[in-house]
Amino acid sequence: MPDTALLDSLIESLTQALGQENVLTDPYDLDRYSGDALSPTRAFGAEDAFDRLADVVARPGSTEDVCAVLKLANASGTPVIPYGGGTGVMGATVPALGGIILDLQRMNKVLAIDPTDMTAEVEAGVVLEDLENALAVQGLMPGHDPYSVPIATVAGTISTNGVGYRAGAHGPMGDQVVALEVVLADGRIMSTRAVPNQSSGPSLKHLFIGSEGVFGVITKATIRVFRLPEAQVFSAAAFDTFDKGFNAAAEMFALGVRPTLVDLTEEDDGITFHLLFEGFKEGVEATEKRALSVCTQFGGRLLGPGPTTAYWEDRRQSAENYKVSALGKPRSVRWSRWRGRRGFDYLHLGLPISKVLEYRKKCDVIMAKSGVRVVEYAIWSRPELFSMLIVPESGAADASSERLGETVEQVLKLAQDMGGVMEYCHGVGVKLNHLLAREMGVGQDVVRALKLALDPHNIMNPGKLGL
Ligand SMILES: Cc1cc2nc3c(=O)[nH]c(=O)nc-3n(C[C@H](O)[C@H](O)[C@H](O)COP(=O)(O)OP(=O)(O)OC[C@H]3O[C@@H](n4cnc5c(N)ncnc54)[C@H](O)[C@@H]3O)c2cc1C
Repeated sequence: MPDTALLDSLIESLTQALGQENVLTDPYDLDRYSGDALSPTRAFGAEDAFDRLADVVARPGSTEDVCAVLKLANASGTPVIPYGGGTGVMGATVPALGGIILDLQRMNKVLAIDPTDMTAEVEAGVVLEDLENALAVQGLMPGHDPYSVPIATVAGTISTNGVGYRAGAHGPMGDQVVALEVVLADGRIMSTRAVPNQSSGPSLKHLFIGSEGVFGVITKATIRVFRLPEAQVFSAAAFDTFDKGFNAAAEMFALGVRPTLVDLTEEDDGITFHLLFEGFKEGVEATEKRALSVCTQFGGRLLGPGPTTAYWEDRRQSAENYKVSALGKPRSVRWSRWRGRRGFDYLHLGLPISKVLEYRKKCDVIMAKSGVRVVEYAIWSRPELFSMLIVPESGAADASSERLGETVEQVLKLAQDMGGVMEYCHGVGVKLNHLLAREMGVGQDVVRALKLALDPHNIMNPGKLGL
């Protein structure tokens, strides 16, 4: 954190580089930009990270502006926290050590759409919904379709390697990335080539996928796009146990049947497998036929398109609500949404297919002992990706929150101990920081060595990814 004189001079230099209107120092702005959708109620032990606010918000309008900001920050050793939509749920944009919030939202141009290359070149801060609308005009669509389409940005979703509704067929956001332009901590610009694959040296774009802004600032991305589907068919099946539905999903993947949407959900009112098939007509027909036959083979009852069509139409509602009630608002407003409500957490674990059901059983034992209830179990996009929405059974708010935190810790560690990962789509942020070294082992040393080489003054989102 710079001292007052240093900070004043930094603000003056930022103002010269970006213009007065793009450098925010008002306490109201510093507050609303400090952090994301993680509230202290879900931080479970990482609350200290909320103690600091950003010192200044810088709003670059171009790659050159980003270079100018990073050069100033590097020279003064000031932290820089890249900020996309601010919709992350792990606190990855929390300015744990103060510094500059680098708001990329002015960099919101769709630069080129190429229906021959099947790519779109966009600036970092393009909101997914705007990209979707621009592509639709040309009969195209993106492959990444999270709940947060109306509020999340291209570079934010790359930096968390998010997962969305179409990941069954198209994979996570990282799979959509063809090329990146990145500004490194010292202000140098690195670009990778816009081809899907390379054997000419290591693939450097992958260094920035899921890296939460610790290695540099993504300024442009070339991403894969797809034709709007010729055919789109929704289907649902009911199962009397989660295990049967899970085995149906595993069988589909073993066969090479890849529905666009794969969502097996168990809630109080039953177990439903939501499926969507998209693409060229004959492919959709064949995939649907085989997927539904696998469902019946494993005891599923076919429900027709109705339940999944309704679910699909509603899929962005939580983000629309967030946009109205929380996005861009001060922290007190964002956090007050949870005040007086029962604690909860959602966990998104990745495990080998062979371990998922065993993991679930072990979690059930842990939860039963801890007075924590799972209100929803799910498989999303692939059988390896398992989620749980959990709440405390009852009790005083404080005790139940503590109990919930301890239980979360236990089940995250269990996933790691069973050969899996503690999170498959939302990143690490401040919330899971303390468990990362446990998962990465020597990999953490590799990350540290890369960080030291690329960012020796540790200005890029310090305190994240254990750095
Ligand atoms: C209602 C709601 C629904 C959600 N649904 C989903 C969902 O379905 N699937 C899912 O995966 N997630 C979901 N999320 C979480 C969130 O939307 C994702 O994590 C998203 O990928 C974050 O994008 P963002 O633009 O808001 O990034 P931010 O929150 O602004 O930033 C996320 C991380 O990326 C870094 N970053 C941002 N821009 C850059 C850049 N230009 N260069 C380098 N680093 C950068 C930040 O420093 C931070 O570390 C949801 C969140 C909400 C609130």
